[in-house]
Amino acid sequence: MFESLKNLLKHFTGDQEKEAIAPATASQQPASTLHAIKKSSSLYHALGDFNLGIGTIGPANRNDIDQKVLVDMYQSVAAGEFNIPANGVVPEICVDGRTDKDGKRKNAPCAAGGTLSIVYGSDLGGTPANNDINEIQLTTRIINALKEKGHNTGVHGDDHSSCGCGACSKAPTIYQHITEHINDIASLISQFGINLTEVEKGAILNQAKNRLNQPGFFADDRATVVKTAQDCGAAYEELVGAHNELGIALNTKSGTTVDRSAIRAKYGPQYDMFVVDAWAFGTAAKDINNNGSDEYTQRIAKAITLQNVATASVLGHGSLSIIPVA
Ligand SMILES: [Zn+2]
Repeated sequence: MFESLKNLLKHFTGDQEKEAIAPATASQQPASTLHAIKKSSSLYHALGDFNLGIGTIGPANRNDIDQKVLVDMYQSVAAGEFNIPANGVVPEICVDGRTDKDGKRKNAPCAAGGTLSIVYGSDLGGTPANNDINEIQLTTRIINALKEKGHNTGVHGDDHSSCGCGACSKAPTIYQHITEHINDIASLISQFGINLTEVEKGAILNQAKNRLNQPGFFADDRATVVKTAQDCGAAYEELVGAHNELGIALNTKSGTTVDRSAIRAKYGPQYDMFVVDAWAFGTAAKDINNNGSDEYTQRIAKAITLQNVATASVLGHGSLSIIPVA
């Protein structure tokens, strides 16, 4: 079912295929709106099933959505009804479900923070880095390396925040979240056929801790990271409005992304989805791995996956379902 993702992220240990296709069991959550939502959409795993989702974005915090419509949207997204061709083969734009003022997004592969996902993923999964480089220098290095390989790069802000990209504004919290919840995150991704070895887990955990302990690694003014990316040539999208994401589309159909405008056109402007084009992670990892070994390519691809899940968990509520598009 998730062969395309598995093929890109080779060398998994174990066989999670049976678990991967098993429907999520009924919610263990206490009776609540979350419970009602879980019952109606229990075909899908939610962040809360894995002790994840410390943020606010998600269906349980909404009173402007219809449960039947929500389930129909999940099923249509899962069926690939909104998949469209994507330009490019590495993550370029953010998973953010919003659009620009014209209701549009670029048709490009998505990851948390756009190109910044590759910056953080290569940092967390790459060879143990020296403490003489900071986030700004790393961003410059990665964007230049991607450009040399002929890839487009991109970041975004929004119309009302100094740093309107949650993956960027909360990057230190996301690293911290990885250190605190790596087992929960590993449990979630194993449901989708991606298995983190103990060696990989230890290396990523150490790197996250090192960065959190490295004075000045993270820029105090988060907007300067986005600005640096732009100065290096990354395209900029200005998104508008509030976060209305109701789920996470985990897209493993190579060469495609999910059309946010088409979802709104069918269901209404308050129906948005985060879009994670996981099929593009393997290529990004390969092209950014300066070590050259397959081992590190796999680790970087998995670290990008972790950074995406951790971002969703920091920004999103436990009621946020993960909808595989395979
Ligand atoms: Zn973003």
